[in-house]
Amino acid sequence: MKDTMTKTNARLQIQPHYSLLINGEYVESGSGQWFETYNPASGKKLAEVAKANRGDVDKAVAAARQALNGKWGRYSAARRAQVLNRVASLLRERFDEVCELEVLNSGKSLANAQGQVMQAIEDFELFAAAALVHEGSTKPVPNGFFNYTLKEPVGVCAQIVPWNYPFMMAAWKVAPALAAGCSVVLKPASLTPITAYVLADICHEAGLPAGALNVVTGSGADIGAYLVEHPGVDKVAFTGETTTGKDIMARASQTLKRITLELGGKSPNIVFPDADFDAAIDGALFGIYYNTGQSCEARSRLFVHESIYDPFITAFVTKANKLVMGNPLDAKTHIGAIISEEQVQVIDGYVQSALADGARVVYGGKRPEGPEFAQGHWYLPTVIVDVTNDMKVAQEEIFGPVIVVVKFKDEKEAVKLANETVYGLAASLWTRDFGRAHRVAAQLKAGTVMINSPFSALPGLPFGGYKQSGFGRELAAESLELYTETKSVLAYIGEKPLNPFGV
Ligand code: NAD
Repeated sequence: MKDTMTKTNARLQIQPHYSLLINGEYVESGSGQWFETYNPASGKKLAEVAKANRGDVDKAVAAARQALNGKWGRYSAARRAQVLNRVASLLRERFDEVCELEVLNSGKSLANAQGQVMQAIEDFELFAAAALVHEGSTKPVPNGFFNYTLKEPVGVCAQIVPWNYPFMMAAWKVAPALAAGCSVVLKPASLTPITAYVLADICHEAGLPAGALNVVTGSGADIGAYLVEHPGVDKVAFTGETTTGKDIMARASQTLKRITLELGGKSPNIVFPDADFDAAIDGALFGIYYNTGQSCEARSRLFVHESIYDPFITAFVTKANKLVMGNPLDAKTHIGAIISEEQVQVIDGYVQSALADGARVVYGGKRPEGPEFAQGHWYLPTVIVDVTNDMKVAQEEIFGPVIVVVKFKDEKEAVKLANETVYGLAASLWTRDFGRAHRVAAQLKAGTVMINSPFSALPGLPFGGYKQSGFGRELAAESLELYTETKSVLAYIGEKPLNPFGV
């Protein structure tokens, strides 16, 4: 069997059927079963996808172990970096095709997909560079001894990713793992399996040896949980819901696996009265409606100072009305589809709960009307006001285009309200007061704090959660620490033999 797939072209168009990728080969599930995947914007079937069973997972884990003990394990950091850089180059060459596939896979707008695929490219470049400088050290030790530390790959990594950023999340996981010399079994979300296979195709085309990256698709509760418990897996890197993260932590504890958990969020966006009003409006809009609100880092809680509360809401709604929702492949579209009918119902359930709690919907709050929305899954950008922090909509992750607006009276109260959540992923604050900006940033319990900006994740900057948003940092060179073990080697080099008992 060939150990690379250098001649296999990446599948840059939707295929009728996707097989599992194990040990560099496309194979059918042991059970012969498959499931269907759909375009969320049209509701149309895209493809059939192999449904892995536990036997397939065993094979994928064994292939990953074999790669680690074989050719891939012998690659130098420089050679691994070459593969990663080549992945980035191939992605740049096929950028348009990959973006289009991601739109079909997820229903997100083309503009969103472009930003995310570009970020995936930059991740591979970042970790190619980081691999070269991730090094051990020598420590001062007493005479007669010599010490050095080695950075060794953790081993076989199970990487389990969600549906909201299918391609980018796969890249966030795969790039640092391969850079560190680990091997991977990647499990994409069942709603968005296609572009994980595309990424794996491109990795192999770039020269990745067989078995270093395997992809299995199927039920999270079945094969996902099985991977987490698998004795052949050394580390689990997971992105998804906080409840799933808790389940993973409990299961992984049985074998004391290393884990990284990137979980949910309910991130605050605080607008102080001295903020640049227009910039804060535009930032707040992007902070919630980017990716149709299906973002872990969405600034879904908007805290506005009481002195500007009414004009801010009026201006926010006026701008929300300008956002274009529709065909995700149209470059002018801002707001794409919702991933599934089930998710539309979840979102609407939260809107109804806000109304029952006494809040008011001043924009959206329902599905859009019109023939272009008759198929697929859609929900209007929604603004809910008169919200208090104890309401369900202010505390639970909605994962849709719904912003809740809460009034505050001073800085102290803003910080208190912003921190009153079990989550701690990201935050934004808007002010022209330099002192206040950094004072508040220091007090917010969040892994990322943006001052006068709605963004969250930039390659090179650590991204991850406080509290129940998880732990571990991705996207930065330091992430390689999470994929390596540090081995300390101490050599006795003294002239006289050691005789510790002195007998
Ligand atoms: P999810 O937890 O339902 O599923 C995520 C992945 O885990 C899927 O591949 C799924 O099949 C698998 N899975 C499900 N149950 C499992 C189990 N018991 N054991 C192992 N694997 C299992 O999440 P989702 O609905 O796909 O994604 C949305 C969630 O992801 C949101 O909560 C969002 O905030 C979070 N998210 C977080 C980040 C971050 O960086 N913090 C980024 C993106 C998404």
